[in-house]
Amino acid sequence: MHLRPIASKEEMLLTNRWTRFRFRKDSDRVTYNEVEFRLSDRITIESGRFRVSQRDIDSLMAPLLAPPKRSVRPIRRIAINAGHGGRDPGNMEGRRMEKTLTLDLATDLARHLKAAGLQVVFIRSTDRFIELPERAEAANRSGADLYVSLHFNGFDGPGSDSVQGLETYCLTPAGAPSSNDAQRRGRMAGFEANRFDRENLTLAHQVHRAILDQTPLADRGVRRARFKELTLLKMPGILVEGGYMSHPTDTRLMESRKSRDQLAAAIADGILRHKKLVERGAPE
Ligand SMILES: [Zn+2]
Repeated sequence: MHLRPIASKEEMLLTNRWTRFRFRKDSDRVTYNEVEFRLSDRITIESGRFRVSQRDIDSLMAPLLAPPKRSVRPIRRIAINAGHGGRDPGNMEGRRMEKTLTLDLATDLARHLKAAGLQVVFIRSTDRFIELPERAEAANRSGADLYVSLHFNGFDGPGSDSVQGLETYCLTPAGAPSSNDAQRRGRMAGFEANRFDRENLTLAHQVHRAILDQTPLADRGVRRARFKELTLLKMPGILVEGGYMSHPTDTRLMESRKSRDQLAAAIADGILRHKKLVERGAPE
């Protein structure tokens, strides 16, 4: 690949014919083909050279450049988790509740996946409360090949009107800090789901990119977190935060039936792109 500094030398491009990484000095983000990813470690400059940590090379750049080939059976069945439910409403804005929006989105997503010939397992199909570990266990028992958890975000701190857009999460690799962990506490111990680190990232990337391509949601990056439901999975899985309920633009999208269906169609498309990619194992 070619490496070249741009403009002020505060940024660096790493390119070949098909791909383009853009690094920024002191940043914990990188863009890959115009999609944002959170890094485990900030980019530093040492003796005039940009330095990317080995764990970001291993857990982010390598699987993006060479998506893993799936060694187990082809992807046939998708577990869909509508976030929250029952006595847990999730985020609330006025009378709007996250648990209702996630269930609506889950229903739309299932329709698109079935239309594409895939089987669907609902973790919940009604307004009921389920503990997080139980959600992962239900997915494990169902023999699902992938797990997709649906959520909508909320932010009520100062400047909440400036926080909007899509975040897609996959499990943090063992030993690395999670994206939203200000203390950067890495955990050495891994989880069973860390076996799927590379496929988790590919799935997160494909779904995130499909949503950015097909909806007006802003890009807040593919991120890492140790969400309970992801740590216990025995299959690759992601968690999609499809916009901020605290932002008027995102709210308009999630409240419109048409926009929500567009989001569901994009998630389904991302899953199908992922399936194609890991089942044939060819580069993008
Ligand atoms: Zn949620």
